[in-house]
Amino acid sequence: MPKAAVLREFGKPLVIEDFPEVHPGPGEVLVKIVAAGVCGSDLHITSGEDPRTPIPMVPGHEGVGIVKELAGPCFDVDGQEINEGDLILWNRGVTCGKCYYCTIAKDPSLCSDRWTYGISRSSEKPRQIRGCYAEELLLTADTQIIKLKEDDNPAVMVAASCSGGTAAHTIELAKIKPGDVVLIQGVGPVGLFLAAFAKAKGASEIIAIKRSPEKEPLAQEFGVTHLLSLAETSREERVKLISDLTSGRGVDVAMEAVGHNSVLDEGLPLVRPGGAYISVGFGVPAPAWPLDTFGLIVRKNVRFQGVWVSDVSHIRQAVLLVRNNPEAFAKMVTHRFPLSEANKALQAVADRSGIKVIIEP
Ligand SMILES: [Zn+2]
Ligand SMILES: [Zn+2]
Repeated sequence: MPKAAVLREFGKPLVIEDFPEVHPGPGEVLVKIVAAGVCGSDLHITSGEDPRTPIPMVPGHEGVGIVKELAGPCFDVDGQEINEGDLILWNRGVTCGKCYYCTIAKDPSLCSDRWTYGISRSSEKPRQIRGCYAEELLLTADTQIIKLKEDDNPAVMVAASCSGGTAAHTIELAKIKPGDVVLIQGVGPVGLFLAAFAKAKGASEIIAIKRSPEKEPLAQEFGVTHLLSLAETSREERVKLISDLTSGRGVDVAMEAVGHNSVLDEGLPLVRPGGAYISVGFGVPAPAWPLDTFGLIVRKNVRFQGVWVSDVSHIRQAVLLVRNNPEAFAKMVTHRFPLSEANKALQAVADRSGIKVIIEP
């Protein structure tokens, strides 16, 4: 019987439980999870802050697995046939393919019926694993799958399935041009993916602001040219550096991957007239934020853009980005835990002691 870590009560430790064996029906894929990512948003889920979460449930929306069983022909988004033993990842969000947003607006991240493994499905009625903190997961027939290569590192690709995809969506909406000066607020997994994508887009300077004073050698490997810590620089010093780098104009594009109003306070005024501010860090509702609409947006022709999750095209872009520099991305994985220590894995994310935390069932 496959085991999974179950959230029975918000704010309480996960409990390891046995689940009944399942077998795939037509189009479904049974995977053996080899790596599950612990996301910052899993803390909101386990604490009860995410309004989408029903309990009891198995957390974990980021997963890479090996195909254990199939019930018939099955293909990935590139049209490659999927066979038993293949290493795959999948779009954590399942969308209807029929609504206005899936068809006319062509933005499935806004699908009105979108549901997410490890976030929005309970593990009861029927009693079944629907998240990646588990030994096995049955993927529904409408789950979009990306076949990985044998030499892809599962623990590294896990980050592509969520942070990487969301960063790719952010970059698509940011419309960075070669030569742009880019500001990234936050250098967690999303921030590092943003830096790597911005570099690939030809950004000339990539300034990143992080909270803690520790050096972050990885930031440079991902393309960050100026790393500033909130603990070691004053706001005036950060403003001056950006002013010096941009002849006093401000950055062409600023992207926040933190999700706190204080970050908006600092970042939005640093955007040059005609530039863009992209907010991707907010995963759960936050207090309303007072905005100087005239001074910061209207008078400056500034575009303020929100980003919600990602679709499978973005996840595919992230997979390809990781393959361009697998050694650097491998260093992003700082913690690995067995399934039995899922609570320790969550704690490692809460402590911010590493960058990417992985559970290896
Ligand atoms: Zn995630
Ligand atoms: Zn839809």
